[in-house]
Amino acid sequence: MVEAHRTFVIVGAGLAGAKAAETLRAEGFTGRVILIGDERDHPYERPPLSKGYLSGKEERDSVFVHERAWYAGADIELHLGQPVTALDRYARTVRLGDNTVIHYDKLLLATGSEPRRLDIPGTDLAGVHHLRRLAHADRLRNVLAALGRDNGHLVIAGGGWIGLEVAAAARGYGAEVTVVEPEPTPLHQVVGPEVGQIFTELHGAHGVRFHFGARLTEIVGQDGMVLAARTDDGEEHPAHDVLAAIGAAPRSALAEAAGLRQAERARGGGIAVDASLRTSDPHIYAAGDVAAVDHPLLGVRLRVEHWANALNGGPAAARAMLGQDVTYDRVPYFFSDQYDVGLEYSGWAPPGSYDEVIIRGDAGKREFIAFWLKDRRVLAGMNVNVWDVTETIQGLIRAGGQHDPEALADPSAPLDSLL
Ligand SMILES: Cc1cc2nc3c(=O)[nH]c(=O)nc-3n(C[C@H](O)[C@H](O)[C@H](O)COP(=O)(O)OP(=O)(O)OC[C@H]3O[C@@H](n4cnc5c(N)ncnc54)[C@H](O)[C@@H]3O)c2cc1C
Repeated sequence: MVEAHRTFVIVGAGLAGAKAAETLRAEGFTGRVILIGDERDHPYERPPLSKGYLSGKEERDSVFVHERAWYAGADIELHLGQPVTALDRYARTVRLGDNTVIHYDKLLLATGSEPRRLDIPGTDLAGVHHLRRLAHADRLRNVLAALGRDNGHLVIAGGGWIGLEVAAAARGYGAEVTVVEPEPTPLHQVVGPEVGQIFTELHGAHGVRFHFGARLTEIVGQDGMVLAARTDDGEEHPAHDVLAAIGAAPRSALAEAAGLRQAERARGGGIAVDASLRTSDPHIYAAGDVAAVDHPLLGVRLRVEHWANALNGGPAAARAMLGQDVTYDRVPYFFSDQYDVGLEYSGWAPPGSYDEVIIRGDAGKREFIAFWLKDRRVLAGMNVNVWDVTETIQGLIRAGGQHDPEALADPSAPLDSLL
């Protein structure tokens, strides 16, 4: 078929979707590109929603991937405020919320993920929040400013990245903050207890209270307003607002209903894709938060909920849709900003996978690189207020060689020399 007569449809107008559409055009695709999203805003980046935009330092306009007019200029048909409600793999069509049916030759699912909900009494109260969308950030920004003005209390369920970034933003407004976390340290599932402790100290120094080893069991309210948050060990924390930051789940219902192969739920779920980001249907691809990739480098099926994975995975899927030879084997990468601490994390080293953590630099001054090792091989590295080392850290992970832990820990030995 002549390319100009082909239609590529992308479901999910987030970062992965927008970057895939952009790449189709950059690679010279002349057919129809249709980008469909259920949000009313055109594609935007989410990291500022818990950092610069939430803290009031960045403008709303700065979060968008492109200006709205860019899409028409690139001949990308943008359907916003339109959920895709059904996928018919045999007819190769998608159905929109308004019942429009669109035929595709190739389809990309870039539907992202959504916040997990607290399943406890009181979550219907007005002061209970989630943070995923720009509209959530608009609201939370006002809430934090009001809490700061009135000495109000914010209880955050979950000491993961979003919980901690919001804690930092809330302290910036002057709000009282308590983080309730079932594990003994924040970020436990990502960085483990050794480095988690550094984050306990960082936030403690900024006045955040932690309640570890506990879960919320009830949000107590009166007249529709939050009064307190109760935990399973019988404590009650005063609260005017509560943020549920207990992780995200892949938005894979559409793919599941269409019978596309899914990754194991116990390992994070998501749409199972091969290293070229192709699903179990050869006409359908998936990228970004929703895709569980059979990772050629790490040898595991992995669903990565990070910005860089959407930024690079969308384009990789677009190239694969065009028939190019694609192997998506990027080292997982994440960044975060909290107070005056900026960090980048590369690799994958959940607790249980590593046997040693090496600190290179000064953890007390929060200027260091942490390495997670298994049998002296670098599984992951995190640079904190140390810059321009990500490529080298990723090189160490990729090379997979064994290293003397003392050499890794010694800041006087140039990192590059270890490659
Ligand atoms: C507050 C916040 C802060 C973050 N900070 C960082 C950070 O500092 N560093 C980092 O690396 N990562 C960060 N992330 C993660 C990063 O933003 C995500 O990994 C990234 O947004 C994933 O992009 P995506 O395109 O896969 O999904 P999304 O951005 O979720 O986009 C998917 C889009 O598809 C839409 N959609 C879903 N189903 C349908 C349907 N059936 N029909 C139509 N549309 C649909 C969704 O509404 C959404 O608009 C953060 C995330 C959040 C929420």
